[in-house]
Amino acid sequence: MTKMQPNAHHHGDHDHTSHGHGEGPCRHATDHRAQAAQALARAERICRERGLRLTPIRRKALEALHADHRPVGAYDLADRISPAGGRRLAPISIYRALDFLVEQGFVHRLSSRNAYVACLHGHGADEVVAFLICEVCGGVDEDSSPAMKKAVSAIAETRQFAPSHQMVEIVGRCEHCRGVAP
Ligand SMILES: [Zn+2]
Ligand SMILES: [Zn+2]
Ligand SMILES: [Zn+2]
Repeated sequence: MTKMQPNAHHHGDHDHTSHGHGEGPCRHATDHRAQAAQALARAERICRERGLRLTPIRRKALEALHADHRPVGAYDLADRISPAGGRRLAPISIYRALDFLVEQGFVHRLSSRNAYVACLHGHGADEVVAFLICEVCGGVDEDSSPAMKKAVSAIAETRQFAPSHQMVEIVGRCEHCRGVAP
């Protein structure tokens, strides 16, 4: 088992001070690079605890999603994890792997993009998550709060609605792309 560094960036922490403007990778990319190993180790541990298998294709899909800070579509993902020079993985296999990863809470599916993003926070399936999707750098931030969870449950309850996915997608510009000309 690999020993992981403690989580430097805590979820919900808005102190993104180390961000440069214009130069180099954006904070989203840096965050994913810094936390991917830890998130993968968590996924492995959870699979062991739940008696589930992180099969090679599931693991490859999860690794590939963690390697990108932007949401990735299923076909694009198939290209990325198919063996070089070999046959492209069948869409059904990719979708099965993605379904598993979403079910276990390792990956989120962004309906508006029809694409997948690896979760750095270990959100449970019953969590209400707000996604802040940046149209400029493509980065996605996730946040959740008890107040939002309460508000969303109240809405669902009023309508006697049984939610299966509870996510709020907010599209716009992240803190470092706000000043960038369109
Ligand atoms: Zn970014
Ligand atoms: Zn998440
Ligand atoms: Zn941005």
